[in-house]
Amino acid sequence: MTWLKHSYASKLPNTLFSSQEPEPVSNPSIALFNEVLANDLGVADYLKERDVLKFLSGNEIVEDSLPIAQAYGGHQFGHFNRLGDGRAVLLGEIKARDGLYDLQLKGSGQTPYSRRGDGRATFYSMLREYLISEAMHALRIPTTRSLAVVQTTDKVYREQVNEGAVLSRIAASHIRVGTFEYARYFGEEGDLEALLQYTIQRHYPELFDHQNHALALLEKVMTKQKDLIIDWLRVGFIHGVMNTDNVTISGETIDYGPCAFMNAYHPKTVFSSIDREGRYAFANQPNIGFWNMRVFANALLPLIDKNEEVGKVKAQEVLEDFPDDFSKAYFKMMGDKLGIVNQEESIRDLVQECMLILVNQKIDYTNFFNELRRGGEIIDKLQMEEAFTAWYAKWQVARLRDTTLEASEALMIKNNPVVIPRNHMVEEVLNSAVYGNMKPFHEFLKELSTPYDDTTAIQFVPLNYDAGYQTFCGT
Ligand code: AMP
Ligand code: MG
Repeated sequence: MTWLKHSYASKLPNTLFSSQEPEPVSNPSIALFNEVLANDLGVADYLKERDVLKFLSGNEIVEDSLPIAQAYGGHQFGHFNRLGDGRAVLLGEIKARDGLYDLQLKGSGQTPYSRRGDGRATFYSMLREYLISEAMHALRIPTTRSLAVVQTTDKVYREQVNEGAVLSRIAASHIRVGTFEYARYFGEEGDLEALLQYTIQRHYPELFDHQNHALALLEKVMTKQKDLIIDWLRVGFIHGVMNTDNVTISGETIDYGPCAFMNAYHPKTVFSSIDREGRYAFANQPNIGFWNMRVFANALLPLIDKNEEVGKVKAQEVLEDFPDDFSKAYFKMMGDKLGIVNQEESIRDLVQECMLILVNQKIDYTNFFNELRRGGEIIDKLQMEEAFTAWYAKWQVARLRDTTLEASEALMIKNNPVVIPRNHMVEEVLNSAVYGNMKPFHEFLKELSTPYDDTTAIQFVPLNYDAGYQTFCGT
């Protein structure tokens, strides 16, 4: 049986990738293996029969794998650069029940796209990606996933000397907005069209019925990105580096470098050490999502219409819906968090007033919505504020409008996680892990696997922890 397919390499022009074998690592050992995911993908039995360690470390090329590094470009903090997998190789695609999934090794050595990078990844940051991407999946948020982390004894030099690791990443695909930018600006005649047809075939075959495939894909990806960012805002997630090379066409969250979850609500919350202007701040994510979709539209332009000016008009007609659609979806989502089953126009005022109270009082974003339903210290304290009691009375009326308390509570439970990857916990378990104790990591991972269990205790949050918290790219 051939278990890996190679549709990317076999169907796309070779300007879009380079053959590249992973570079061997020293003394690999399996630090984490995701059995549930292996089962979901239908490859558990296959993997059991093989020396997983050898091929997930990149030390051996598994039969029928055809490793490639993908080329892509990307607008990084607004500036266009020529990029590509600088420290990753795609071994091939797994055929699961619901379609193809990329199996990629990350931290697997240099490639033609490494620029000045060493092609490696630290054990710490690959554990971080594993933890947070699995948490996102449990939160029902589309995401790439982690099949395994292989630890090595190779040294990886960043600000300090680190242990190295190779992560096996699973994704519906690694096609990014930046892949389209690459095909448009560095590809040869026909490359962009080939990429478009491949992408539709792989992700959205229903779009073949549309007259204008490029425009239909733009519209689809806009919807996917809108829904994704709404989900991020729902759980307090800050991606941290929404460059167009980190925006997937599948609508999955990708690249867990500098991301973090917000504790106290503030729209300008930023953790990434290099995001000094707050380009990727919590509440700026919708604006950047829109900006990224404009970049996508530009890349697709020659396929939208032969006449570029006509193409621009057609793209604009699709793009201009984004802000309104986003805003509607945002208030609907916040209304759901507040347990308001029958939402009316007035929901906007109710949400905005609520957020103002949270900012002014520096209230924990996650715990607030839980305590609003079950009661607790936060609410007890807020009840002493006039602005809050007035709001609370309006909320009570709104949530019981033409519905039952049970229905309102069920909606709140469904939309408000109790457990998220709190920054201090993430650091604590990762620090233990790099010193050889994986137990806290596993315990936390388990807690994160049922984030909506409303019988779980509300998480403790250290006061002002966020103020000094920083995250990093490319570690
Ligand atoms: P990121 O900030 O992770 O989105 O990475 C941006 C680009 O830099 C991508 O093309 C990565 O493949 C590349 N890159 C990041 N870290 C390394 C590294 N250690 N070695 C080589 N390339 C890297
Ligand atoms: Mg990236």
